[in-house]
Amino acid sequence: MQTQAGVLKIDLSALKSNYKQFQSMTSAHVAGVVKANAYGIGLERVVRSLLDEGCRQFFVATVGEGLALRKINFNVPVGILGGILPGAESECLHANLTPVLNSLEMVHRWAAFAKTQGQKCQAILQFCTGMNRLGLGADEIETLTADLSVLDGLDIQIVMSHFACADEKDHWLNQEQAKRFAEIAGRFPLVQKSLCNSSGLFRDKAWHYDLVRPGYALYGGNPTPETDNPVCPVVSLDVPILQIRNVKKGEVIGYGASHVFERDTQVATLAMGYADGFLRAHSGQAKLFWRGQACPVIGRVSMDVLSVDLGHLQGETPNPGDMLEVIGPHQSIDDLAQSAGTIGYEVLTSLGTRYARLYV
Ligand SMILES: *Cc1c(COP(=O)(O)O)cnc(C)c1O
Repeated sequence: MQTQAGVLKIDLSALKSNYKQFQSMTSAHVAGVVKANAYGIGLERVVRSLLDEGCRQFFVATVGEGLALRKINFNVPVGILGGILPGAESECLHANLTPVLNSLEMVHRWAAFAKTQGQKCQAILQFCTGMNRLGLGADEIETLTADLSVLDGLDIQIVMSHFACADEKDHWLNQEQAKRFAEIAGRFPLVQKSLCNSSGLFRDKAWHYDLVRPGYALYGGNPTPETDNPVCPVVSLDVPILQIRNVKKGEVIGYGASHVFERDTQVATLAMGYADGFLRAHSGQAKLFWRGQACPVIGRVSMDVLSVDLGHLQGETPNPGDMLEVIGPHQSIDDLAQSAGTIGYEVLTSLGTRYARLYV
């Protein structure tokens, strides 16, 4: 059936092969970061695929996402990267979710909660090593390690930190964060340690510790922007043409009449707009592809449609109903992101709900 929507194809065997590749690169266990609906790919299919490959630790951002994962699997360890807010403790415990404790206040509150439950509660401790986003700061770490008795009621599963710049190969902060992590994590000799996201996994092996936490690269994003992509693409997107029209030199197109044609040409209007996650910032910047030939996006991207110029195409030109490539062999998620001045992470997590999703 033609649903007048784009077709988003998700290659689960490529996802699995990326997981296997990472597991072959390290003696650490490869966890799966599946926050934001597995980066827009689809939580359930991704979790099942990774479980098949032996993944035994997942991470999500929120308790709500953890509950969604629990509908898929009840036992596998799930860390909540955002930690735990007051009032969510009981739900977190009963769903067997493990909060990442990001501040001393969170440590104290989770420990006090454990006491009221008369049991040890599982937790992950995150240290800030320089990113200054989440995690116990330097002063808090000193306070904690001077008197570890606050952790008595807790069962610490992992100590972790997070790189700010691992995608930049030689960024000074990488070494600095790794050094700080080694020093702090060393105070917890019996606990599993974790530092690397996707990019970190492709840097220094000494940073792998016991557990690596890739997200983006599992889904085909390039973790090493300074080289060709070392992982398999997972996502492709093709979108149908709704209408083709001839326009004359001097005419305009779209909201704001922002594009003025400099010559007579032919334009196609496609069934994809910013409500589908094709960013408005792509207006006048991005390209779609017809049989490998680039067609520039002209005028403003609107909510449900956008237009491309077909005037320069060689050979057979497309007809209404034909599909143009948005993501695929000629344009990666990283390429597409670049034309809107953003990153592939945002392209993936913006993917809308109107596409026909095809898992292969
Ligand atoms: C999102 C996230 C990851 C995964 O990062 P990628 O760059 O997608 O591999 C790992 N750890 C933490 C703490 C995160 O927030």
